Amino acid sequence: MNFASNAHPSPKSSPNLGLKHRNTFGFEASAELAYEITAPDQIPAVMTQIAEKKLPWRVLGGGSNVILPTVLPGATLLMNIAGQEIISSDTNSTLIAVGGGVNWHNFVAWALENNLPGLENLALIPGTVGAAPIQNIGAYGVEIGEYIDSVDAYDANSHAFVTLTNEECCFAYRDSYFKKNPQRFIVTKVVFRLPKQWQARIHYVDLAKQFSEQSSPSPEEIFLAVCKIRTHKLPDPKVIGNAGSFFQNPIVPNEQYETLLHEYPGLASYPDATGKRKLAAGWLIDQCGFKGQRMGNVGVYENQALVLVNHGNGTAQDILGLAKCIQEKVKKEFGVHLEIEPNIL
Ligand SMILES: Cc1cc2nc3c(=O)[nH]c(=O)nc-3n(C[C@H](O)[C@H](O)[C@H](O)COP(=O)(O)OP(=O)(O)OC[C@H]3O[C@@H](n4cnc5c(N)ncnc54)[C@H](O)[C@@H]3O)c2cc1C
Repeated sequence: MNFASNAHPSPKSSPNLGLKHRNTFGFEASAELAYEITAPDQIPAVMTQIAEKKLPWRVLGGGSNVILPTVLPGATLLMNIAGQEIISSDTNSTLIAVGGGVNWHNFVAWALENNLPGLENLALIPGTVGAAPIQNIGAYGVEIGEYIDSVDAYDANSHAFVTLTNEECCFAYRDSYFKKNPQRFIVTKVVFRLPKQWQARIHYVDLAKQFSEQSSPSPEEIFLAVCKIRTHKLPDPKVIGNAGSFFQNPIVPNEQYETLLHEYPGLASYPDATGKRKLAAGWLIDQCGFKGQRMGNVGVYENQALVLVNHGNGTAQDILGLAKCIQEKVKKEFGVHLEIEPNIL
């Protein structure tokens, strides 16, 4: 467990570290100077060095939501803080502290094995626990912000460790206080609050279909169903480079939705938590004829138009070029702007 405040050795630093295997697009990329962070107390000294040398910096978790350039200038902090433990449990809920470098899916599986359900809808999302609050990861009708109690981070503005409560994290659809303040926080630990009263959440269309003849599936059954659906629908980054959904589902006012629906009766959409309408970006892209199309070394996945893929030897420039074409066509056709989801580092 690395949560203890004992002093840890200085982090390993590596010049010109290759990152091809640390970004799920599989782009050829390298970090000018990489620091492997295995404990929070290594961070202040590293950040002092970075500030003294006036280096640009960023954090890299599993690299499953980033678009990397060929060279990442300055310092790259590789988040490898391990450890997960139950810190308290009462009649209502269980609090679990998890290190920022822990693999997300392994944590979800560990929680289930320890009879702590709640996160099963988010199984198989690639990446680290520390990145989960950044874009408030979500899938199959659940967003992680609902289960986060607090987040520990190093604040590069105040040069101090801070704890943000759930409210202070300002979670919203694929958004958070961290995302709104880039180059500021390094998430070291996330504390999850899992309610003791568990309820299956299978309203999302794919899960509802899966359990149409079974009204009360167990958390393990939901976990397995989510893994099965995702494996079927999404390309495995080990086989074909991708970063999952490339665009956010655009949220539009109800009047715009009604106008679009009138023109396109098949328009796929969902009600948004704020009362507006969330359009299925994949449907919009599909309607523009991009599904399965290739542009040089990159393309749109044949089974899911929301996923852009690297067919091999693609670069950030290639993928952003394709994204621009898609954005322009969708804007022209539907009057809707598609926001890129992965972080352009
Ligand atoms: C096949 C596939 C399926 C996916 N499905 C989903 C899905 O269903 N739902 C979903 O929401 N996302 C999905 N994603 C996107 C991705 O898995 C998540 O966004 C994940 O949380 C990214 O984790 P990471 O550790 O790889 O972060 P990275 O890609 O390394 O980083 C993402 C961003 O977070 C920042 N960051 C990372 N770690 C930290 C930290 N400790 N402190 C501060 N900043 C940090 C980085 O600087 C970067 O800006 C999918 C991706 C793939 C490849």
